[in-house]
Amino acid sequence: MLRTHTCGELNIQSAGQEVILTGWVQRIRDKGGLVWIDLRDRYGITQLMMEEGTSDPAVIETAKELGREFVIQTKGLVIERVSKNLKIPTGEIEIKVSEIKVLNKSKLPPFTIEDNTDGGEELRMKYRYLDLRRTPVRRNLELRHRMAIETRIYLDKQKFIEIETPVLIKSTPEGARDFVVPSRMNPGEFYALPQSPQTFKQLLMVAGYDRYYQIVKCFRDEDLRADRQPEFTQIDCEMAFVEQNDILNTFEGLTKYLFSRIKEVDFADPFPRMSYADAMKQYGSDKPDIRFGMKFEELDDLGKGRDFKVFDDAGLVVGICVPGCADYTRKQLDELTEFVKKPQLGAKGLVYIRFNLDGTIKSSVDKFFNETELKSWAERFNAQPGDLILVLAGDINLTRKALNELRLEMGGRLGLRKPDTYAPLWVVDFPLLEWDQDTARFYAMHHPFTSPKPEDIHLLAGSPGEVRANAYDLVINGVEIGGGSIRIHDKELQKNMFSILGFTDEQAQAQFGFLMNAFEFGAPPHGGLAFGFDRFCALFGGSDSIRDYIAFPKNNSGRDVMIDSPAIISDEQLKELNLKVTFEPAKK
Ligand code: ASP
Repeated sequence: MLRTHTCGELNIQSAGQEVILTGWVQRIRDKGGLVWIDLRDRYGITQLMMEEGTSDPAVIETAKELGREFVIQTKGLVIERVSKNLKIPTGEIEIKVSEIKVLNKSKLPPFTIEDNTDGGEELRMKYRYLDLRRTPVRRNLELRHRMAIETRIYLDKQKFIEIETPVLIKSTPEGARDFVVPSRMNPGEFYALPQSPQTFKQLLMVAGYDRYYQIVKCFRDEDLRADRQPEFTQIDCEMAFVEQNDILNTFEGLTKYLFSRIKEVDFADPFPRMSYADAMKQYGSDKPDIRFGMKFEELDDLGKGRDFKVFDDAGLVVGICVPGCADYTRKQLDELTEFVKKPQLGAKGLVYIRFNLDGTIKSSVDKFFNETELKSWAERFNAQPGDLILVLAGDINLTRKALNELRLEMGGRLGLRKPDTYAPLWVVDFPLLEWDQDTARFYAMHHPFTSPKPEDIHLLAGSPGEVRANAYDLVINGVEIGGGSIRIHDKELQKNMFSILGFTDEQAQAQFGFLMNAFEFGAPPHGGLAFGFDRFCALFGGSDSIRDYIAFPKNNSGRDVMIDSPAIISDEQLKELNLKVTFEPAKK
């Protein structure tokens, strides 16, 4: 070893020891007769010091020539510091340096390697290896590591076995576009990268490995956001001989274990469960943030039939009651109106009712509704004097969506979305299928292997849109942490499902024949789920961006700006792969 200790482990008990440390020069302070260096490695920072008169002049000379991020090896004596820094574990000591050896020089880094850096996102990503030296980024990766270790410990105890599945496969139907890889040995043919190991884990159930898991990379070619990356990681699981409850209990157990081990948060009660239908009705979202109330109340019966066209023509009149905001100014209400009218939400307007502290009621629809009528609205919400009722009307789905956003906005404004409060929730009974207007066909809401609820199977022929699935999501603080389903394990039902989804028998056979064939060899009842591992880490770390928890993430255009990928390949490679590129890349 080139060192006797790390930069994070020496303390007052070590005083008097002769030590050798290695690391990066974070900062040099030259105060005339005294020179200090902050030496950093993965474990922390240790202060080095030299003093004119008592230290070797040659060593002081070397120290003065060091630059930021130089890699050095240093030898010295651990001594008690005069002015201590009790904020860091090594803050009571410093090293009185007797030798310094430069192991490597460094160019001046393009941004400061400090907790609060001056580097913008793009620059930090280009030099990600420097960004990764920063303590907050390192802590995120350490958190990720612990989450992975603890997950493995828990699942191992529960007799799950981690099995790797291939990365060069063919299309998996998780609803996104595939990334594809041309095959040199099979000209004209392509592999697809797995959107998830879905079909393989089901095949493992057929093979008898009744508890499988894998912490695994998945690939989806879709538009990117803060919580999406083209390649991301799942804790992917599958179990045989189970019912929905068994899966929910097992993975609720994993979630509680992780919270307890890593966040020291213990949930005494079972996680609440809510049907998809209720989630949509009460929160306008299939991933409600239940850290706070402000549940939706539907007002069709109170709002319609009073000659107010906006309500009369609406598919739904629905509102929320915001506590203590009756004194919102005109300007604040205008802001909220603009918020719901923005193109992504598309509401036509916002109706408000102020339930004033003196008990009077004032609204933006006083022309159409008298005070008694508005009082009955307030009663519907169980509103208290001082509350503000906000109402939207229009198309059912769009209105729910807009009111969901408004509810989250108000929750945020009122400080009700506390980052250190965790409110988990199972959303269950998702619809099996969703209708797509544009292509005029049904799509699997989860994926085509999800089983309908047995009691709804009779609806498949006549009203497929009404069939509920044995599918579930785990939602925490409004973030979808994961989801899964009980699977179809019967060949005929699976065939029927493919046909409802618009596959001909030949297409289904060509794409998923291997799975349906496997179902003919004793497929056990099975089901599973997958947690988005990056999202889980971000939630634990208190961030909205999964990028912060990925060592080498891609930017919003799917680029790795550090290695400059994707990139064009040589004519030779194209020829070998029998590929011809017709697209002319813009000159850089
Ligand atoms: N494969 C699914 C997904 O990636 C999870 C599951 O159904 O187990 O969302």
